[in-house]
Amino acid sequence: ARFTVGLTGGIGSGKSVVARLFAERGVDIVDTDQIARSLTGPHGAAMPALLDAFGAGYADAHGALDRAKMRALVFSEPDAKRRLESILHPMIRDAVFAESLLGTGPYVIFDIPLLVESGTWKERVARVLVVDCPEAVQLERVVARNGLPAAQVQAIMATQAPRQARLAAADDVIENGGELAALAPQVDRFHANYLTMAARLVR
Ligand code: ATP
Repeated sequence: ARFTVGLTGGIGSGKSVVARLFAERGVDIVDTDQIARSLTGPHGAAMPALLDAFGAGYADAHGALDRAKMRALVFSEPDAKRRLESILHPMIRDAVFAESLLGTGPYVIFDIPLLVESGTWKERVARVLVVDCPEAVQLERVVARNGLPAAQVQAIMATQAPRQARLAAADDVIENGGELAALAPQVDRFHANYLTMAARLVR
């Protein structure tokens, strides 16, 4: 097994920027959202099980999951969300760990936006690293990046874990309420710690 860090943070907190800084230091990054998208993309590996469970009508013309239709079902039928996740989450987990074995870096970071919200990731990684910033800053960044109305960004934020819950789950916290330039020194410090922890693991 490799030393694994779960990287998380609310929308717009700066996870992507932080992941890039670790990647520049030679760390392997596994993007769980990308894996989830490919499992449910055209003829993705999760599609047979999903169509079995929900019906062939949940595939679009390309053999990908019809996301709009699934979203509507999950919205109207609370149990559908549980069924969807019970199929998808174990497949995502397996694919994430399989991909993590391909890397050759000193350790691996799983980029998991919903680590705190969805299930059992916390107990499957050695360390939880949270990128934190005040909610007002999150809101401002996402409005600027995506050009969405503030109310829509707030609605997305309301579906995510509150800042305090995320901090409570953290082993390590990168503070990103200020300048971008403040990130690299923090990443350097955690990277040094993780290298030590990873070396201890293989000894
Ligand atoms: P999402 O969950 O939406 O994917 P994220 O957590 O990956 O978001 P990023 O995409 O890394 O967040 O950052 C959100 C936006 O804010 C980006 O446009 C990024 O360039 C900008 N940003 C991040 N950190 C800072 C900072 N310290 N100062 C200014 N802008 C920042």
